[in-house]
Amino acid sequence: MFCTNCGEKVVEPETTCPKCGTQIGKRKQEGGVSKGLLWAGYLCPIFLPFAGFLIGLVIGIILLTKGRTGHGIAQILISVTILIFILYQFYSRPMFY
Ligand SMILES: [Zn+2]
Repeated sequence: MFCTNCGEKVVEPETTCPKCGTQIGKRKQEGGVSKGLLWAGYLCPIFLPFAGFLIGLVIGIILLTKGRTGHGIAQILISVTILIFILYQFYSRPMFY
């Protein structure tokens, strides 16, 4: 590829022009998802059993829309699994206290 500013040839792994320093061919962005959000999507459903699966679902959907399909599907699956587990616990109780 060539520099968009001065036309200098830029070798592939390089992302800035060696001549003028213009940034070209930006590396693929990770969908603009912060690592904190990514971790929250995994940790919330596990450590906040009643509200966490909702947070996990929402973060999973956000990740899907941002192109992080793998993490998104994983978090939605974790959240749904925990939701089913909670419902099972709730309905399998013989009596309410
Ligand atoms: Zn240049």
